[in-house]
Amino acid sequence: MSETIRRHPEAATLMSYAAGTLCEPLAAVVTAHLSMCEDCRHEVEDLELIGAGLLGSLAPAVGPAIRIPKRPLECEALTDAPVVERRRPDHLPAPIAQVYGLGFDTIPWKRLGPGVWHHRLELSAGVEGDLRLLKIGPGREMPDHGHGGSELTLVLDGAYADETGEYRRGDLQDADEDVEHRPVADKIVGCVCLIASERPARFKSIVGKLLQPWTGM
Ligand SMILES: [Zn+2]
Repeated sequence: MSETIRRHPEAATLMSYAAGTLCEPLAAVVTAHLSMCEDCRHEVEDLELIGAGLLGSLAPAVGPAIRIPKRPLECEALTDAPVVERRRPDHLPAPIAQVYGLGFDTIPWKRLGPGVWHHRLELSAGVEGDLRLLKIGPGREMPDHGHGGSELTLVLDGAYADETGEYRRGDLQDADEDVEHRPVADKIVGCVCLIASERPARFKSIVGKLLQPWTGM
C-alpha cells in the first residue's frame, strides 16, 4: 500500500502486541493498522523473532497481520457470505472486514447525536474494553474526554485533528490515560475511524456525561 502513514503505535504497544499481552480491543486496532503499514509489520516481525530467541525457540514467528480477535461468529462461517459490491473495498482493513463480515459501505451506522454515528464491534465473551467504528461528520467534534486506560484510534477515511496534531488514513493515535483530547473531523470529508479502549472513556463535558450511559463510551 503506497499511502503515507505518519503516526504509528508506540514502541511499548507494539512490544505488548508481539508478546501477545495487548488486550483484545487494542490488539484488533493494531492488527488493522498492521494490515495498512508495512513498517510496523516488519517491526512486529522483528520483535516476535527477538521474543522467540529469548525463549530459546527456533520456531519462526507467525505473521502478525492475520492475528484477529476471537469472537462468537467464527471466520469460517463468513467464507461463503455473498460478496457485497463496495465502492471503496479497501477502506475497511481486511482483518476487520473478514472477522465482522462488513464492508465499508455496509456498516450499519447508529446515530449517536448530530453528525456522529457509531457501530459497536463485538468482543469475545468476558473481554473488557470497547471496540467500535465511529463516523464523524465534516467539521464536527467529539466531546472532550480523558481515558481510564489506553485508547487507540485508527483513521480509515478522511481525517481528524486534536491537540496532538492531525491524523489521516492509516495513522494511529496511541493515547494513554494522561491524554485528554477533543478530536475535530476534517471540514470537508469528515472522518471514519476504528477506535478501541481498555476501559470506558471519561467525558468532561455535560453533554459527554449525558451521552455516556447511552453510548457506552
Ligand atoms: Zn505503522
